[in-house]
Amino acid sequence: MTELSKRAQTSRIERIARVRERMEVLGVDVLLLSLGADLPWLTGYLAMPLERLTMLVLPVRGDPVLVVPALEAARVAIAEDVFAVHPWSDTENPVAIVASIVAARAERNGGANRLRVAISDRTWATSVLALQSEIPRAEWIPGSTVTSSIRAVKDSFELEALRAASGAADRVAAMLQRGDIPLIGRREADVSNDISTLLLAEGHERVNFAIVGSGPNAASPHHEPGSRIIGPNETVVCDFGGTLSLDGEVGYCSDITRTVVTGAPSDDIRDCYEVLLASQQTAVASARAGVSAEAVDAAARSIIDDAGYGDLFIHRTGHGIGIEEHEDPYLVAGNDELLRPGHAFSVEPGIYASDRFGMRLEDIVIITEDGNPESLNTVDHALVVVEV
Ligand code: ZN
Ligand code: ZN
Ligand code: ZN
Repeated sequence: MTELSKRAQTSRIERIARVRERMEVLGVDVLLLSLGADLPWLTGYLAMPLERLTMLVLPVRGDPVLVVPALEAARVAIAEDVFAVHPWSDTENPVAIVASIVAARAERNGGANRLRVAISDRTWATSVLALQSEIPRAEWIPGSTVTSSIRAVKDSFELEALRAASGAADRVAAMLQRGDIPLIGRREADVSNDISTLLLAEGHERVNFAIVGSGPNAASPHHEPGSRIIGPNETVVCDFGGTLSLDGEVGYCSDITRTVVTGAPSDDIRDCYEVLLASQQTAVASARAGVSAEAVDAAARSIIDDAGYGDLFIHRTGHGIGIEEHEDPYLVAGNDELLRPGHAFSVEPGIYASDRFGMRLEDIVIITEDGNPESLNTVDHALVVVEV
């Protein structure tokens, strides 16, 4: 086991303890984790999205058990001190196995006659329905009620992984800005492929997306890069990210947007970009511990509003990031959750002028131990002209 893997394992044991404290507070008897990020977050094991059931049974007290298809058991790094592994064969019924473990644990914990069960949000509906009939007299709540606020606060191992992922994305963005990725005369899809290849070359194990929107397509925030040929004097929005794993541990995501312009920008584009940059930098600076998520959204929005472009900023300001590309906390009006040290999220305002041009600027930001914002993406924030 490497030093890093040992740290990762220690972090997971601490996370399980924090999850159990919260289960206690919420009166949850058992947490059932299947697909989604909660399972790898707590066990280091990422289940493949098979129809066969993988499920961690984590009772509020007593040993956790990972019920896993026998053919997958070899992929589970044995961590006997953290959880037991119960493989099931294709002739067994995994739902009955989970139900019997839940029943046995409930008995040991005093046999509450009505169980409160939290089940991970990404469990297949077929599994949920089967479990609900096997475990009667239970109240079911989403697993995220237990996990998401804890998972949103990253520990030192996770911050290191996020930092490495953002660093790799930054190197690709720097190549884009230097003109190492030719734009003019090429299809958006080809540029997207180049970015994907570079994300892998810079250390990501997987590419999650590589949006390239040029000219009028840049006005569509999640534009699917297609056959449009990029022309001169256009904005090109490049929003890309992947998952990067340190030492074979569970991977963490990068997500960055830089907008470049293929030749001297028009006055409109220049003016809008000035507003966008001020909005993004003001929002980042406002993101301190104790400030609400919605206040950061308001900080970004008020600058764009004041410049008269409020109608053209058509999405929330940001999202949390970790094992998943999008997770808590969301920077959006209505979310009064207070930012805390360890929170990691994007700050990504945009201005989208339909049928003409669009622009977005995105960094991943963390709240440091002393409560200040730190941008993990440091590559040039200016509107860079790329004339190739
Ligand atoms: Zn997005
Ligand atoms: Zn993005
Ligand atoms: Zn994003």
